[in-house]
Amino acid sequence: MTASSSTIAVNELDEVVSSGRCIGCGMCSIPLSFAEATSKVDLVWSKDEETWVPTIASSDAASLEQRVCPGAKVDMKALSQDVFGEQPEDGFVGVTKSIQAGYATDETVRKFAASGGVTTALLQHWLNEDIIDFAYCTAGLDPHNGKGQIARYSDDLRNSAGSHYHPVNFGAALEELAESNERFAFVGLPCEVSAMRSVMAYRDDIAQRCVAIIGLFCGGINRYSGIGHYLSNFGVEAENVEEIDYRDGVWPGQIALKQKNSSEIQRIPRIRGNSRWNILRYMVSFQGYWMLPRCRICPDQISDFADLAVGDPHLTRFKEKESAGYSAVIARTDTGEQLLQNAVADGIICSEQLSRDELVASQGYTLENRRHADVTRNMARRLGIVAPELKLYDDVKGARSWHQHVYAFVDLYKIKIRKWTFLRPFYVPIQIGEYLFLTFSPRLIASRTKKLLKNK
Ligand SMILES: Cc1cc2nc3c(=O)[nH]c(=O)nc-3n(C[C@H](O)[C@H](O)[C@H](O)COP(=O)(O)OP(=O)(O)OC[C@H]3O[C@@H](n4cnc5c(N)ncnc54)[C@H](O)[C@@H]3O)c2cc1C
Ligand code: SF4
Ligand code: SF4
Repeated sequence: MTASSSTIAVNELDEVVSSGRCIGCGMCSIPLSFAEATSKVDLVWSKDEETWVPTIASSDAASLEQRVCPGAKVDMKALSQDVFGEQPEDGFVGVTKSIQAGYATDETVRKFAASGGVTTALLQHWLNEDIIDFAYCTAGLDPHNGKGQIARYSDDLRNSAGSHYHPVNFGAALEELAESNERFAFVGLPCEVSAMRSVMAYRDDIAQRCVAIIGLFCGGINRYSGIGHYLSNFGVEAENVEEIDYRDGVWPGQIALKQKNSSEIQRIPRIRGNSRWNILRYMVSFQGYWMLPRCRICPDQISDFADLAVGDPHLTRFKEKESAGYSAVIARTDTGEQLLQNAVADGIICSEQLSRDELVASQGYTLENRRHADVTRNMARRLGIVAPELKLYDDVKGARSWHQHVYAFVDLYKIKIRKWTFLRPFYVPIQIGEYLFLTFSPRLIASRTKKLLKNK
């Protein structure tokens, strides 16, 4: 991988933040040359951006030293060449060895996990079998204090399971990871995984110690104030929340939260079991105005560069089972495939086949929009939003539909007007308009109007 394809100078990091491209991943805290590192990059909370952003020690602020930054650049072609030595035959799903749906056979793990608990079960198994010394993953249910951790014990993994849809200080322990000499597994979002691959292209010492990378599927990170906007419908003040679990109970789960000075667990529906109007409120709050801008201009939803990519198989056949959950698992490398097969043979994971088309269907229109991220990037430029540099796979460059341009405009415009607070009373009516009319299909408009009237 060439330096220019994945890195920027330390003195450019500030501009990534001020232009709204920072995702707070903290990958810029890892020096790319162990011997020649001169800069110190830490992550601090930005009240304005509502995420974690890099801060550079003042004496280093003008440094030209290079760091990896997925907020600024993503080169899917170069990454594919680097990780797999080839371009994917099917650019829609990336390079795959196998596609499955599975769950942790340990019922406790499956229950507290986000999906089927495959991620936690694998990490636990690798620690038990002395395949890794630690896992790099997130920690904590506190919405104000989630962070990356070096996990060595079952309790650390218990504390890590679940999905955090708000910004976490992912980079909190990355320097420690980079400085250690132990074997590890890395769990991250697609942008963090691609950045880790880029780091490993420069840091052979880290690449040698990395046993496996588990990448999550990712629809985007939402600012916590957006989540607060949803919670306020249920009489909950976001600042008062001490613990939040977005994936409690029957898969795909509801929100379970604990407020300060209370031991009571309050449960709030997300999609399942929710009324139609509340689902629209959920969409407004979680998938609209408060999303980090860079997440709207992202080419990777299904962790193309992980050894194992893990997400939710959002398909009727799994929903109907009303179970503790399933994880969709894509093995992308020989390492990933072997580790997965071993875990199945050892009785840690139970799995069944998932077809390529089921995988695509399970991610709805988001995957299609991501693969055509050039549409969103070009629309962003027209709207005056600074976009990351993107290089997409050749075979998904074909024709773009009119719908993709409309979605790109609507999604980006919502982010652009987030601070116009006088518009907030109109968010739900706007969402209803979008729900009914964005597809311009008369049959869909009729069936959705019926659902709205019945509130189902
Ligand atoms: C922000 C976000 C958006 C997502 N969007 C989608 C989507 O659109 N479609 C889809 O199918 N799946 C999505 N997922 C993935 C899904 O929610 C589950 O994380 C995934 O299926 C793994 O489930 P599991 O039961 O195997 O994981 P678990 O066993 O519960 O383990 C979860 C792992 O995820 C890590 N993790 C949790 N939150 C974060 C975070 N914010 N940043 C980095 N690591 C984190 C934890 O450290 C832990 O190791 C998203 C996850 C996140 C965090
Ligand atoms: S996107 Fe990540 S790597 Fe880039 S500046 Fe922000 S925290 Fe650093
Ligand atoms: S949507 Fe893309 S940029 Fe945003 S967190 Fe997910 S992978 Fe990263």
